[in-house]
Amino acid sequence: MSNASNFVANEAMAAAEPHFVTPGLVDTSGPSPKLAAGKCAACGALSFPKAVVCSACLSDQISAAQLASEGTLYSFATVHQAPKSWIVPYTLGYVDLVDGIRVLAHIDGEPKIGASVRLGLGRVGTDPHGAALMSYVFTTGDGGTA
Ligand SMILES: [Zn+2]
Repeated sequence: MSNASNFVANEAMAAAEPHFVTPGLVDTSGPSPKLAAGKCAACGALSFPKAVVCSACLSDQISAAQLASEGTLYSFATVHQAPKSWIVPYTLGYVDLVDGIRVLAHIDGEPKIGASVRLGLGRVGTDPHGAALMSYVFTTGDGGTA
């Protein structure tokens, strides 16, 4: 009896576990999250998300790579329309990472063009089971981390 109810409780808890909106974009195996990118074996161009074919030289020899966690906010916009389960409004921005690639990401903190930003994880919504939807988020220097 109690095993059956525990099983149901465990299933409900498992369903409510936080999870990424898009799995595979962030490597969380190390001490800090890293964006899971691709690097072209032929020309060295980086891609995020990892490309199937290099947009610079059309090679299909793309290996896994990790991107830098620091960058500069290139541009941003406040988004008021989103899928039902997302937290709105939110800030979406382009970040120029120190290793030379520009990525689109959620921005936390006070956005300002040219501001230094750092990669982290954040909640961007709630799934139909009540679980937190997580994503990679860049936080501005004004975001509170000292
Ligand atoms: Zn290439």
